[in-house]
Amino acid sequence: MLTNQVSGEDDHYEALDLTPDAPPDEVREAWRFLLAAFHPDRFRDPVQRSRAEEITKRVNGAWQVLGDPALRARYDARRGSAQAAIATREIPCPTCAGRCTVTDTGGRLTHIACPACGETFPAMIGARCVDRPRLEKRGVRLRYQAEFADETGARTTVTFRRLPQELALPEGELFSIVFDPRRPRPIYAIVHGDALDLGWRVG
Ligand SMILES: [Zn+2]
Repeated sequence: MLTNQVSGEDDHYEALDLTPDAPPDEVREAWRFLLAAFHPDRFRDPVQRSRAEEITKRVNGAWQVLGDPALRARYDARRGSAQAAIATREIPCPTCAGRCTVTDTGGRLTHIACPACGETFPAMIGARCVDRPRLEKRGVRLRYQAEFADETGARTTVTFRRLPQELALPEGELFSIVFDPRRPRPIYAIVHGDALDLGWRVG
């Protein structure tokens, strides 16, 4: 699944596999390269072909914005404010369920002190789900295992005793996981959507 950095809008830099500081000639080169590489005529398999058509459409959409200096400047401004807006997250305390406002750590494990009850608990804030959670059998019990990556690409596997249906397809989504202060098990899973955060008690 591809991410949207700007609410309701595709991430054009990601579509072209560029960083936001890429100079105009690099933008043009990336666009032309990807158009050639994913030209739908190159793919005979219908599934691959339709995927190539999707990529081509996305790449062209990115070029329409990033290839135009005025549109690119406006897009960058929107993108900047969207990223600033997600710099903090609301996380429930595992002990009192009070809300803790925390800085997004880009998926790294951090320790949070609850301002309401004083509990200190570990949490992973803003980690990207690498794969869909897998159902695994451990003895007679079923467990879900999901892999998360922080912004440096470092991976962490989290085991859930239960996971709501809605979390069956979260590949690529941004997650925060709140852990039990005393045992390494997840208590809350929160998915950070474009406009809305959705949280579930999972432990
Ligand atoms: Zn608390």
